[in-house]
Amino acid sequence: MSPENRYSCVLLFGPPGVGKGTQGKILANIPGFFHLSVGDVFRSVDIGSEDGKEVYDYISEGQLVPDPLTMKIWKKAVDAYVALSWYKPHEDLLVLDGMPRNVEQVSLVEKYLNVHQIIYLECSDEEDMIHRIRRRAIRENRTDDANEDVIRHRFSVYHQVTAPVIDRYPADMISRVDCNGSPAEVLKLILDQVIPVQNAHFRDNN
Ligand code: ADP
Repeated sequence: MSPENRYSCVLLFGPPGVGKGTQGKILANIPGFFHLSVGDVFRSVDIGSEDGKEVYDYISEGQLVPDPLTMKIWKKAVDAYVALSWYKPHEDLLVLDGMPRNVEQVSLVEKYLNVHQIIYLECSDEEDMIHRIRRRAIRENRTDDANEDVIRHRFSVYHQVTAPVIDRYPADMISRVDCNGSPAEVLKLILDQVIPVQNAHFRDNN
């Protein structure tokens, strides 16, 4: 992919249960945003296929899916959304949720993504997030959310492997957003950050 054709995007970043998916889905309802959750893409892979079985094994144990498989499935999903014109890269700002999730992926996505900003959702109370995740298990029927050991393992993967991703980006690209408010309050804080990015994107493309 040539550098000028890379997808303009903002990243939703933060620990499990912080509300990346909730906020991403709300943004997706606003024209000019396309939300892509890597976790959702993985959960939609046919569980009977070879890739689906492998993905399921990693996710249900709270492990990251290996990078080659992650990149293969992610790229296939993006290409499909572009082909269907659900995602129009010249009109929509990509809101990417769940990628990059380790420092290796920072380099792997560079050839596809022009990252404008990182929305870093922060929550002071990890126990509160574990609570939220347990509730989500019931609401969304997610196997990785139902088992407390798996949830705690995901937090340790986050701290060890994912959190260092943020150091790979310049500090002025990172917007820290407190996720402790209501979804509407958090949305307002996120919109304050992303609207200027989206406006710049439209100015460049229209
Ligand atoms: P959460 O918001 O709770 O972190 P996600 O839906 O983003 O959940 O991710 C669910 C699971 O999907 C992760 O625990 C991990 O197993 C897998 N996953 C998601 N994104 C990636 C990625 N970029 N690389 C590898 N595995 C991933």
